[in-house]
Amino acid sequence: MKNLKIVTVPNKILKKTTQKVVDFNESLIDQIKAMTKALRGEGGVGLAANQLGIDNRVLIVECPYEDRGIIPLTCFVNPEIIEYSNETDLADEGCLSIPPIELETERSKKLKVKYQDEMGRTKKIAPKGFLARILQHEIDHLNGIMFTDRVREKYLSDFPDLKSKKIVFVGSGEFAAIILRGLISLGLNIPLVVTEKAKPAGRDKATKFTNVHEEAIRFDLPILETENINLDLEKIKAQDPDIIILSDFGQILKNDILTVAKFGALNLHPSLLPKYRGATPIQTAILNNDVETGVSLIKMVPEIDKGPVLSQIKIDIDEDDNSLSLEKRLAVAAVKLLYHSLPRLIHNKLHPMDQDENLASRTKKFKKEDGEIDWTKPTAKIDAQIRAYFPWPGSYTFIDDKRLIIHQTHMDDNKLVLDVVQPEGKQIMSFTDFIKGFHGTKPKWFGKIK
Ligand code: ZN
Repeated sequence: MKNLKIVTVPNKILKKTTQKVVDFNESLIDQIKAMTKALRGEGGVGLAANQLGIDNRVLIVECPYEDRGIIPLTCFVNPEIIEYSNETDLADEGCLSIPPIELETERSKKLKVKYQDEMGRTKKIAPKGFLARILQHEIDHLNGIMFTDRVREKYLSDFPDLKSKKIVFVGSGEFAAIILRGLISLGLNIPLVVTEKAKPAGRDKATKFTNVHEEAIRFDLPILETENINLDLEKIKAQDPDIIILSDFGQILKNDILTVAKFGALNLHPSLLPKYRGATPIQTAILNNDVETGVSLIKMVPEIDKGPVLSQIKIDIDEDDNSLSLEKRLAVAAVKLLYHSLPRLIHNKLHPMDQDENLASRTKKFKKEDGEIDWTKPTAKIDAQIRAYFPWPGSYTFIDDKRLIIHQTHMDDNKLVLDVVQPEGKQIMSFTDFIKGFHGTKPKWFGKIK
């Protein structure tokens, strides 16, 4: 069986009850091998056959992570939950078929499960804790149920009046696209997605839709492309919105739009406001070697990022985070923040807190030239810069008068270890490979690297 790709929402096979396995043959063994490869490739802990587009009742589980409890690779064919404990708990779940969303999901703590192994022998187990959670998640897949279906069902039954609230979503970049995916999975009513008009980009100047635009197409939501949102006031008004949620959007909204929705226009900003207002809060937090950052939900006012804070969520910045990985984790946090804040918003239980102007700071836009490495700086600063400027504007240095782009580094005993580099105009490669083919004069900065 060739390498199979993981199927993501909204694919129909994820909504379908899968077929019972009757033949325990060579092709089943091949399928399990392909599933194992895909699971390990993604670093997941469980995978159901239909997540690879295969319509049968096979799932695998494997947890190599000690902190979550090691589970050896196990294959469950035709699994069936024959008993659920009444006692449940809540924990974050994620799914390779709707990355990178993570939401609290309620599951039974203990189960009794009947299944067959890959040879067709019937077995019974009584899993609890993490294994019980994974099995409930994966057996749901085999029955056409996503974990987000469970979350949505509970959310909208806990807060039934959220269902009818009309949310106009405004955004463009990947941070916003992930938030939109989260709102869709919560089953909220989004009558309109507003995004910036597609612009020609890249070398071939092909028109490129925004990430939010692509996401809205995938989920079949109505889209309004705009060059100036303020001129589209009537189209937004026509939706009679209850809430406007904006994130990662490059235009400034005038007061007419900010006041059109009953519960106002809210912005999700990836920093702990009033810290790091402006365009580059994620990069700046890494550049400054901060150990934590977060997302703020604010009520928008005409001055950018200055509105009162409605709620915040904090996350740690890892030593190996770059702007791409941190953006993704902040977007996941933003979805959690909305999950908790929206019910409180519509019941007027959020208490706006004015931002303390004395603590406010602004971030600046970066230019390509900011990426040149200054080797007189301490190595920890250089490492932080490389992580902060990945993927944009990128970091580079010169070697034999040729530009070398540095994509990835890490620290080892105060020395900088270069992991991934790219000589200008060439392919991305490991630094080790680069050095093998390098016969010029070694620059002074080699003294700072390991
Ligand atoms: Zn899943």
